[in-house]
Amino acid sequence: MENQGLRKCLHVVLVPAPLQGHISPMLQLGDVLHSKGFSIIVAHTIFNSPNPSNHPEFIFLPISDNLSDHDTSPGNLLALFKSINKNCEEPLRQSLAHIMHQQELGDRVVCIIYDQIMYFSEAVASHLKLPCMNFRTISASFALAYKEIPRLLAEGYIPRQNSMLQDLVPGLFPLRFTDMPTDIGSLEDVIENMELSINTRNYSAIIWNTVDHLEQTALAQFLQPRPVQLFSVGPLHKMASPSSTSLLEVDTSCISWLDKQAPRSVIYVSIGSLAFMEEKELTEMAWGLASSGQPFLWVVRTGSECDSEWKLLPKGFKETIGERGCIVKWAPQRKVLAHDAVGGFWSHCGWNSTLESLSEGVPMICWPCLGDQKVNARYISHEWKVGQQFEHELERNAIKQAIRGLMVNKEGENTRQNAMDIMEKIRFSVNKEGSSYNSLNGLAEFISSFQL
Ligand code: UDP
Repeated sequence: MENQGLRKCLHVVLVPAPLQGHISPMLQLGDVLHSKGFSIIVAHTIFNSPNPSNHPEFIFLPISDNLSDHDTSPGNLLALFKSINKNCEEPLRQSLAHIMHQQELGDRVVCIIYDQIMYFSEAVASHLKLPCMNFRTISASFALAYKEIPRLLAEGYIPRQNSMLQDLVPGLFPLRFTDMPTDIGSLEDVIENMELSINTRNYSAIIWNTVDHLEQTALAQFLQPRPVQLFSVGPLHKMASPSSTSLLEVDTSCISWLDKQAPRSVIYVSIGSLAFMEEKELTEMAWGLASSGQPFLWVVRTGSECDSEWKLLPKGFKETIGERGCIVKWAPQRKVLAHDAVGGFWSHCGWNSTLESLSEGVPMICWPCLGDQKVNARYISHEWKVGQQFEHELERNAIKQAIRGLMVNKEGENTRQNAMDIMEKIRFSVNKEGSSYNSLNGLAEFISSFQL
């Protein structure tokens, strides 16, 4: 990198949103930019703060967030985003002004890169006369669906009767109305959040944790109404160092269990950091996994009131499955998906999990729960065809059939092959001269140009 000497004193400020699926890609972006010679400041909320000891090369700047228990209670995401944007602007402005005031000659904060949820950062950048960039940790396909909600409302397509939810959405093939993210709050709140986080504003560029060849059509829609620099740099976890970005303690014991399983035999089950299964669903899942005959690795997250995940599962289950199943509270997911023994992923289809699965050629059973997951699930199953959507009630027999259908039976052959093909394309995009590799270099040059 010819400019690395010059970049040594250029500080890039990152403002991640305090959710697992947003913090990880932001830290990975920081890692890649650091490897290109930039110095990294991570300005983070106190709530869900990242662990500085995993990234000794970064400077961590805690920002007072004043969040209440109500703001941070599960299932209240739009309210959480609103409070953060209301409470954090002044503390971030003051902290950065202080750092900039202390800087020595030649040492400079050059720009702010903020998660799309942390849109208050734009006002801070403008106040401090810094350029800023909008970082997106969601799929472009989801962002496009989100962006189209006001049009669908104006044209009378939504709200929609339950009986018509299977209809295709005009202009958004292959999405159906049931896949649309209209259920994450009142329509009014959804539209307000979309306008503030997704619509074109005063940033100099959009950085997207996605891959061109997967989402070219959706990405192109964000170059209007005004042309904007767009860098698709994903999947970032394939280019960053493997340092932990986890907010929870990772149980690595499952890797030695995986080492003992046959290649491509294990179904990995995880529904991310936000979604939960009800007790009845846990029971059906347990017996479905047991009767599938496949070895399984299952992430069962417990509330603080429960000290063992086994207590949440049905009586007799542990004895029935013996060594065939491994259950953990939180897995090293990227390592798990990259392990030879894993042949399928029962997933909620969060965007990080999707990219992590696609990158390793692991086909998916899509069981989306909330937010962007239904859009991602539809793309996984109907556009990229690397997964099968589970749309029944969560019932043991249907679970067994879905797992065997994906992993063992002939009906899953095309899906398994498509997953391998997409993995190859993703590997190509992150290797030298691939689209994401080139885009990251372009981004580094773009940031360097701010100092001129
Ligand atoms: N993850 C993990 N261990 C687990 C489950 C999930 O490390 O046991 C990570 C996973 O690798 C992914 C992130 O948590 O990077 C979840 O992000 P995603 O966007 O998939 O879903 P969300 O949690 O936002 O719903």
